[in-house]
Amino acid sequence: MQRLQAFKYELRPDGQQARQMARFAGSCRFVFNKALALQKANHEAGGKYIGYVAMAKHLTEWRNGSETPWLKDAPVHPLQHALKDMDRAYQNFFAKRAAFPKFKKKGQRESFRYPDAKQIKLDQANGRIFLPKLGWMRLRLSRPVLGELRNATVSYSGGKWFVAIQTAREVEQPMPTATSAIGIDVGIARFATFSDGTFLAPLDSFKKHESRLRRAQRAMSRKVKNSRNWRKAKTQVQKIHARIGNARRDYLHKATSAISQNHAMVCIEDLQVRNMSKSAAGTDDKPGKNVRAKSGLNKSILDQGWFEFRRQLEYKLAWSGGMLIAVPPHNTSRTCPGCGCVSADNRPSQAVFRCIECGHKGNADHIGAINILARGHRAAACGEDVSRAKPAKAKCAASAKQEPTEVTCSGSMPAMGAVGIPCR
Ligand SMILES: [Zn+2]
Repeated sequence: MQRLQAFKYELRPDGQQARQMARFAGSCRFVFNKALALQKANHEAGGKYIGYVAMAKHLTEWRNGSETPWLKDAPVHPLQHALKDMDRAYQNFFAKRAAFPKFKKKGQRESFRYPDAKQIKLDQANGRIFLPKLGWMRLRLSRPVLGELRNATVSYSGGKWFVAIQTAREVEQPMPTATSAIGIDVGIARFATFSDGTFLAPLDSFKKHESRLRRAQRAMSRKVKNSRNWRKAKTQVQKIHARIGNARRDYLHKATSAISQNHAMVCIEDLQVRNMSKSAAGTDDKPGKNVRAKSGLNKSILDQGWFEFRRQLEYKLAWSGGMLIAVPPHNTSRTCPGCGCVSADNRPSQAVFRCIECGHKGNADHIGAINILARGHRAAACGEDVSRAKPAKAKCAASAKQEPTEVTCSGSMPAMGAVGIPCR
């Protein structure tokens, strides 16, 4: 089984290299925007879509012309890759997977990619990497790079430069070491509640830094735009954002690693985060209700990173030989695991579950997790409609059309007997 994996490290450029990288990222943004503008103008004039090959010829003209001769200073492969990015943005738009491509702004996700592994040299013994037109550069090699190099992406975030090195390597088909199954209910009050009764505390990384962030943003708004002090204040804001991101990533990775190592089968609700976090404001004709409250909830949901949680579970379980089962979320928090009675009255409050038929009591999230696990068992073992899950991203977009009773399943599917999951 081939495993693709990216390894990301902080770069330690000298002043010259840092300036070069900023310039290269700017050139790639310029090429992306110029190509997008050309594509738009061409469409308005009634022309056909300009494919990548034709666009690359334009790039050669831009590089050799007199208008933008500085494009010649940037490495050509990353510039071509910017065109590929734009082409893919259009393809995603044509396939209705994404909105219409947008122009890139300076200072947002500055990055560029070297798509050709032959041009990159990695010297792990001395902790350095060779990149075209930048030369040898030191990097913080916090762990070894495994596998064969595929490409390298340089990016800038929170005042630092990073390189993500993508590799491919052959690994043996994993056999799950764990044998247990678990259901997970995600929520606001508790980030995740497990069917065994344990739970993960909410990840309020954003809340914790919110006041600091607000102060830094206020300080930035008082400065003259593009002045030296404004740029300093902006770096401060970006640093806080980077911190928030790091805290969140760290938390999620630790949680998903532990779950995927300890369980062979993980059942979650097939939540449509995109629908849940849709803007509540509505349109001018149809203003939304409870806009303030809902926007608070949205922030909470996005802050929690449920979608990322699911994405990580999906690939980590595939790596460990386990599987992820996404079950339809209907009534999981209203069904009694004792007698099977389904009623909204079973849930007198957000946190409490009390069955009106048999009096079964418990924490509502815990009951939800138990129901999710039971549903997952039925789906996996007794052949309720189980189809392979599409990749998480595509799924999110296709969510609207999904059948309400469909149960999706991903990862490898070991024989149920082998993992010891009873059939109910
Ligand atoms: Zn009951």
